[in-house]
Amino acid sequence: MRTHHCNELRASHVGETVTLIGWVNSARDHGGVIFIDLRDREGLTQCVFRPEENAELAELSHHLRDEDVVQVIGKVSKRLEGTGNDKLGTGEVEIVATELNIVNKADVLPFQLDKELSNEDLRMKYRYLDLRRPRMNKNIRTRHAITAAARRYLDEKGFIEVETPILSNPTPEGARDFLVPSRLNPGRFYALPQAPQQYKQLLMVAGLEKYFQIARCFRDEDLRADRQPEFTQIDIEASFINQEDIIKLVEGLLASMFKAGLDLDVPTPFPRMTYRDAMDIYGSDKPDTRYDMKIIDLGDVFAATEFKIFRSIVDGGGVVRAINAKGFAGITTGQMNRLNEIAVQAGLPVKNLAFIKLENGEYKSPLWKIFTDSEKEAVVAKLDLAEGDIVFFAAGSRDSVSTILGRVRLEVAVMMELTKDSKAYNFLWVVDFPLLALDTETGSWAAVHHPFTRPNKDDVALLDDGKYEEVRAVAYDVVLNGYELGGGSIRIHEKDLQAKMFEVLGVGPEEQQEKFAHILDAFRFGAPPHGGLALGLDRIAMLVSGEDSIREVIAFPKNNKGADLMAQSPCVIDFKSLREVYIQSTYKEKKD
Ligand code: ASP
Repeated sequence: MRTHHCNELRASHVGETVTLIGWVNSARDHGGVIFIDLRDREGLTQCVFRPEENAELAELSHHLRDEDVVQVIGKVSKRLEGTGNDKLGTGEVEIVATELNIVNKADVLPFQLDKELSNEDLRMKYRYLDLRRPRMNKNIRTRHAITAAARRYLDEKGFIEVETPILSNPTPEGARDFLVPSRLNPGRFYALPQAPQQYKQLLMVAGLEKYFQIARCFRDEDLRADRQPEFTQIDIEASFINQEDIIKLVEGLLASMFKAGLDLDVPTPFPRMTYRDAMDIYGSDKPDTRYDMKIIDLGDVFAATEFKIFRSIVDGGGVVRAINAKGFAGITTGQMNRLNEIAVQAGLPVKNLAFIKLENGEYKSPLWKIFTDSEKEAVVAKLDLAEGDIVFFAAGSRDSVSTILGRVRLEVAVMMELTKDSKAYNFLWVVDFPLLALDTETGSWAAVHHPFTRPNKDDVALLDDGKYEEVRAVAYDVVLNGYELGGGSIRIHEKDLQAKMFEVLGVGPEEQQEKFAHILDAFRFGAPPHGGLALGLDRIAMLVSGEDSIREVIAFPKNNKGADLMAQSPCVIDFKSLREVYIQSTYKEKKD
């Protein structure tokens, strides 16, 4: 149907007769001469219809509408002096049409393709049109490029791609499962995988040694800009490796993906930080290190304080910490209210964040008159509090102070637009995660990653002693600019240790047999030491494409109610007829 695509013809093609096919991107009438920009996925080519050359054709071209599909045959000509378009690859030439075939007419579109549209529902309803737009077309192709790079890289490193079941059992990754009734097993259900975790470990027991999968995962969670009910992981597992091997492998993998998608040379190795430091210094286990605003501990400043609130917190083993938002003393009342709201949501027990700001040489603060002179001096020095700065305080347990100041830090950065024009790609490993965390609602211990994560060998004794909160895991997350790109761990490969871990998590012997017999059994037959990690492909594609929602890099995403507005999914099911199918099949089975 074509001899060239729409971003192919150059001055060197002048004189050739060519055939192009695509969509009418735009049509212009210049005093009877019709110009159309013909578009295919590669780009645009200008086609011209002159009445003096072919009156009939020019008349036909008059009736073209945006997005009609047309085939144009004509001669490549140099554009007239001064009419070139250096923004287009094909900008030096045009096709002087000798034939025009209208292949398929388009109705008037529900929205223009060359303008940004804020009505996301409309975009989603006509997603196939939305995807025609250059930005979306580019995003989808970038996603392909980075996925292809990942496949190539892993293949070169000897990894084997294996598909694992979609219809499987619940997987303990910490989210809700999507369930599917089984027609052949009435009363029983499959769960869609939250991750192929157990299967990939079983592939290690099977002796595959190096596995990967571009794996669709399903989690029934509330949606956010970087969360969808189904999403894609680059899932990796390997045997006879340690944390260092995985880290090196993944650094190379990410570098190859960012090279393919952005032509970026990512420096390796990435910096590393322990989970404890990340929480203490940035108040987050996925710190955005593009800006400082570090959390500063003021324990020594207030060690002997007589300020009652701080006194009782320090005496109770708590901490007093603060961040300095440099140059933000001009914060508006609205912004201050918003920060207070965020701090309260994050656990601040009072309504307002304590602050000190220095404006026109004057310290303004509800705390200023309470602090002693030496406390004031120490606060100013420790926080490097200068003219125009504002310092926010939090006091309480170490974890809650981290959470509060971490959230405030992020919000201040948004308000101050600290990363607006940043071109930085700050990759980071967060290591030494805790193995377990106390679920304050149920009062029981839960796995921070998942129950297959290996405790640090130096901390196994702590596990035996019941000092669960102190046990570190051999688990690592890779972070970019405040986003968790992925995470993984070295796994437990011994049956007894795995059973013990289940026990700590409140999964007794009976439930272990019922839910995890396969993996516990497998560990009896020579399971190799193994570990791995999974990367969130959607998030990586989002960051490579410079987007701020993963919906922009998924061809057919769901909205924040989990609905696909184009296909009207989820749909209503006629349960009566569904029941018939189930009853009939059970009945038939019995008869057979
Ligand atoms: N299965 C884990 C997850 O989905 C990743 C891993 O541990 O490899 O987060």
